[in-house]
Amino acid sequence: MDLYEYQAKDLFAAHGVPVLPGRTVETPEEAAAAARELGGTVVVKAQVKTGGRGKAGGVKLATSPEETQEKAAAILGMDIKGHTVHRVLVTEASDIAEEYYFSFLLDRSNRTFLAMCSADGGMEIEQLAVERPEALARIPIDAIAGVDRAKAAEIVAAGRIPEIVADQAADVIVKLWETFVAEDATLVEVNPLVRDPQDKVVALDGKVTLDANADFRHPGHADLVDERTENPLEAKAKAKNLNYVKLDDGQVGIIGNGAGLVMSTLDVVAYAGERHGGVKPANFLDIGGGASAKVMADGLDVILGDPDVKSVFVNVFGGITACDAVANGIVEALKILGDSASKPLVVRLDGNNVVEGRRILDEANHPLVTQVDTMDNAADKAAELAAAGISGAGA
Ligand code: GDP
Ligand code: MN
Repeated sequence: MDLYEYQAKDLFAAHGVPVLPGRTVETPEEAAAAARELGGTVVVKAQVKTGGRGKAGGVKLATSPEETQEKAAAILGMDIKGHTVHRVLVTEASDIAEEYYFSFLLDRSNRTFLAMCSADGGMEIEQLAVERPEALARIPIDAIAGVDRAKAAEIVAAGRIPEIVADQAADVIVKLWETFVAEDATLVEVNPLVRDPQDKVVALDGKVTLDANADFRHPGHADLVDERTENPLEAKAKAKNLNYVKLDDGQVGIIGNGAGLVMSTLDVVAYAGERHGGVKPANFLDIGGGASAKVMADGLDVILGDPDVKSVFVNVFGGITACDAVANGIVEALKILGDSASKPLVVRLDGNNVVEGRRILDEANHPLVTQVDTMDNAADKAAELAAAGISGAGA
């Protein structure tokens, strides 16, 4: 889960990383009040989960409450790379002598953590990474050894952070590492980390991505979720404890048991889709080992609620939960859903007790259900039905 800047900075503050005080508000009037409270010059900053806000006009200085109100009015409602601004952060402004770049991230390809540091931070960091990669130091971090003062000093030197703030920068880096570890983040980024004219180091921006796999040990992280921007289908699936991921531009809903089977189902459907007008899988949904009627009904409910979905492919390999139990689950699920089940289902059953499973579905003879014996043929049928659903809707 990506956090907003104000949430990232709250975590920074909790771990002792220097940030400036601010208030998050939703109206221009509240912005003016926040500016009055903070006093002096403030920065009004769009809170959206995308970078490049400065260049898009989403970060503006204001020298009075009235000006803050005007700037907030201009920024609220703005569209930045497809993200609507619902909130702005009004924060004390800093004077800037220099802008540095710093981040910790999970480096998946090298199976380790990585620190990136540069004395040339600010808004052109992507360009810097391409044009002068040597100016952006990359230092692998051993997960067990972590980052102590000595390691932080090494990072600071590699990033060519000036001597005058080297100690402070190293302090900040140790605290950012503490944040990264304690919060189970996969990314902690500060750009810019600034030196102000008094040679104080402050984090003026913050970007944090939390590892959702570690949510179970961070009950507090649930409060950071913004329902307004969460995908409603994913939110519904999460509430039902389903392992569901919505995919862009897909029309074939997918249900399977076991993550590996579901992933190969996505591939097979994408491949079959090429023969049927380029239809694609619409989601990942793994209903796991126990495919009970309840879980099947919940899964179908989420998938059928996706307006992009034109057909559903249920791909189950019976194991401990045998095919007859799954078939009964499908029949029961369709009863539970009643008229809200309105899109064709292609079911492929194989594995434990497959003959009985297929017999149960045959006997139920549900008008929406087509059984196909092999995964490839079932994928083809599901893609064909999705393509027909699209042209049918257009006619
Ligand atoms: P981003 O463009 O989404 O990364 O947003 P940032 O928070 O990094 O802000 C963009 C730029 O605005 C920064 O690189 C700074 O140059 C500038 N900026 C942000 N906060 C301040 C501030 O307190 N004072 C001044 N003078 N400039 C700021
Ligand atoms: Mn930034």
